[in-house]
Amino acid sequence: MTKPRQPAEPFRIKSVEPIQLLDRATREKKIVEAHYNIFRIDAADIYIDLLTDSGTSAMSNRQWAALMMGDESYAGAKSFRNFEKVVRDIFRKEYVIPCHQGRSGENLIFSTILKPGQYVLNNTHFDTTRGNTQHKGGIAVDLPCAESDAPVPLPFKGDMDTEKLEHFIDEHGTDEIAMVIMTITNNSVGGQPVSMKNIKAVSSICKKHGLPFFFDCARFAENCYFIRRDEPGYENKSIRKIAAEMFDACDGVMMSAKKDGLANIGGFIALNDGELYQKLTDLMILIEGFPTYGGLAGRDLEVLAVGLQEVMDLEYLKNRVGQIKYFGEVLKQAGMPIVEPTGGHAVFVDAGQFLSHIPTKQFPGQSLAVAFYVEGGIRAVEIGSLMFGGTDPVTGEKLSAPRELVRLAVPRRVYTNSHLDYIGDVAKIITGRREALKGYKITYQSRFLRHFTCKLESISTRNVEVGS
Ligand SMILES: *Cc1c(COP(=O)(O)O)cnc(C)c1O
Repeated sequence: MTKPRQPAEPFRIKSVEPIQLLDRATREKKIVEAHYNIFRIDAADIYIDLLTDSGTSAMSNRQWAALMMGDESYAGAKSFRNFEKVVRDIFRKEYVIPCHQGRSGENLIFSTILKPGQYVLNNTHFDTTRGNTQHKGGIAVDLPCAESDAPVPLPFKGDMDTEKLEHFIDEHGTDEIAMVIMTITNNSVGGQPVSMKNIKAVSSICKKHGLPFFFDCARFAENCYFIRRDEPGYENKSIRKIAAEMFDACDGVMMSAKKDGLANIGGFIALNDGELYQKLTDLMILIEGFPTYGGLAGRDLEVLAVGLQEVMDLEYLKNRVGQIKYFGEVLKQAGMPIVEPTGGHAVFVDAGQFLSHIPTKQFPGQSLAVAFYVEGGIRAVEIGSLMFGGTDPVTGEKLSAPRELVRLAVPRRVYTNSHLDYIGDVAKIITGRREALKGYKITYQSRFLRHFTCKLESISTRNVEVGS
């Protein structure tokens, strides 16, 4: 097989942060001490950390310079005005509300516009969006397109099912629906993009019924790049123009700027409804801070103002999305089945298929995540029965995961192609001894979000029935 080729990074390195690979014996000791839960391992003991792409970006020289320009005045800081201008230009909304991260914006929105018992419709809710909706008494409904889970390489698997949307509105009536949200890119189905055609179709359905239409747009620039690359009619448009067209189709946005803000913290809400702005900022003063800083420092706002523009650079995006695709090829060549096409921010390995000798109840995804650490000091995360299985803490229902995946999320501008090649070499070693990989059982778990803190034990005999 010929080795895929990915062009060199469109940046050079000005500041370095040393990382170290512990020897194998120490890694084995660390994973035992962590009870086989990778969330319990200290970052200093990890060589390559692909736990998340959130808040892990490397800043540019221009962002570090902007940091020094932070105006830390309590009210009406210059840094806020810079940030506000940039957000208005890109997202095309009048009112800009900074928040310390995405979920605090969600909290503000759902606390303000949601009446208990109302539905919130989404292509697919991200966990915190779902959690905040439910916390305010709302019912979160996902309406992903039929192809979202199909093993076919279609370009816009993040789309919303517009027929189901119309049907839902007809069935329940608009009074029962608080808002419609489009998650861009669709994180929970693997960072898959949403097409402009679908955005516009959903927008006109919402307009027709007078429903507020918001974007949850943590990865808006990656989505714009996919539209430019794969949607007819956009191949010659700039990312900024595509973004403008996209944002003109919605009433407001919520953004976790820890992703495409190219920053380590931050988020915001932007909208045109002055009355809603008033309600949001009234609440905000109680829980986040004065409306011109929203829980962030002036320097954070400066960094975001630069990051939100840099992220739309075509060369950057080409490299970013290309790097994810390349990484997927590297893992495939190492013998690991992956979810295709690769989206904008991560590669997902199908651990259920790769470790078919380990039953679902024994967490094949966790087994692979542990192997990545033990074999190579790499941190990846299980997205399968450990994360989504168990019992519902509220209803007591048995839960199940649709698939047993392992996510390798790639931080922005942090690792080079050579780091990814190294992971490919480790993947090859794991493939070579996959029959020897064992399942796990849980020895401790919390009621909510058990995967973060649970403790596990390795199962040495095959096919032992254990409760999940
Ligand atoms: C990360 C993320 C959030 C939550 O943002 P935080 O900054 O982590 O609070 C919400 N929605 C989407 C789509 C995300 O990716």
